[in-house]
Amino acid sequence: MKVPFLDLKKTNREIEDKLISEFTKFLSSGQYIGGEAVDSFEKEFSSYCGSEYCVGVGNGMDALTLALKSLEIGPGDEVIVPNMTFIATWLSVTATGADVVGVEPDNNTYTIDINLIEREITDKTKAIVPVHLYGHPAKMDPIKKIASKYDLYVVEDAAQAHGASYKNKKIGSHGDLTAWSFYPGKNLGALGDAGAVTSDNKDLINKIKSLSNYGSEERYVHKFLGVNSRLDPLQARVLEIKLKFLDQWNERRREIADIYLNEIASPHITLPVVSSEINHAWHLFCIRIKQRDKFREYLENKGVETLIHYPIPPYSQEAYSYLGYDLDYFPLSFQISNELVSLPICPSMSNDQLDHAIRTINSFSL
Ligand SMILES: *Cc1c(COP(=O)(O)O)cnc(C)c1O
Repeated sequence: MKVPFLDLKKTNREIEDKLISEFTKFLSSGQYIGGEAVDSFEKEFSSYCGSEYCVGVGNGMDALTLALKSLEIGPGDEVIVPNMTFIATWLSVTATGADVVGVEPDNNTYTIDINLIEREITDKTKAIVPVHLYGHPAKMDPIKKIASKYDLYVVEDAAQAHGASYKNKKIGSHGDLTAWSFYPGKNLGALGDAGAVTSDNKDLINKIKSLSNYGSEERYVHKFLGVNSRLDPLQARVLEIKLKFLDQWNERRREIADIYLNEIASPHITLPVVSSEINHAWHLFCIRIKQRDKFREYLENKGVETLIHYPIPPYSQEAYSYLGYDLDYFPLSFQISNELVSLPICPSMSNDQLDHAIRTINSFSL
């Protein structure tokens, strides 16, 4: 039996009729940039997240970069980011001209270790960018407390956390700004690139809207050195359709995660830890195992596809070699990144596929 890591085609087929009927309407609408489709999705998504405002942008990396730029973060500033994340979090800081300051993860939830943040704060620090890694929200209250003590901004990277919540409040406006990616494989994914920023701060959202549209609020009048990073209206329509299914798809992810947590029984495997104060979005289900290569090969031979998120932490990527960190400068990230394996957890996975995956995992021996 084949258990694909992620079967997007199957999920999209479930809503094929709705998509095609929207495409037909879109084709005859005559409005192919901005307009009602974008406004409507922004409204629906902020309402879903419980935030006051939302602005659509071109992708998740731009959502982060423009969020930081709207706070006037740039050369000479420092921004605190977790070591364990997709490199886009780091690159967005670098794109503003500011310096990235990496912080090690909590060994249980893999989100930024709140006990290691304060020691990294200097006169140059402007913001903290917590990442809700794998769909598990970072510890927002302690992070916000540190931020307010040192007068720092909090920009959340929520690219993996659509529908997650922290202390019963949806992710979307815990920090000053929350950046989203709608890359196809995310819990809420477009049929191409797309992103957004949500917030309760109207001025910042308006500034991001302007920055993403050539720094312009009024046509041919340019207030900022902006870029072109607008949410495509066709993707906005796709996202608005898919948003209606997000809770249902996340519920299926939770069901699969619970079954994995209850039924995986292997002395070699460390299961993910879920903090009691959060509601997980289960973007990824990542286990740890020392004999990773052997384990993945065993699963692959039985048709169970796995991936690694992420095999090389940003600080030890060649792109960041100028920072001068050795591979094991951050020993915990280094160790975790050598042990992680992501198991299939897509909503379209059948119970038979899940059973097969669990039986295979439990039959692995050294
Ligand atoms: C996917 C992702 C991004 C980047 O999103 P794109 O839309 O691909 O630019 C940023 N941060 C994290 C944690 C992500 O998983």
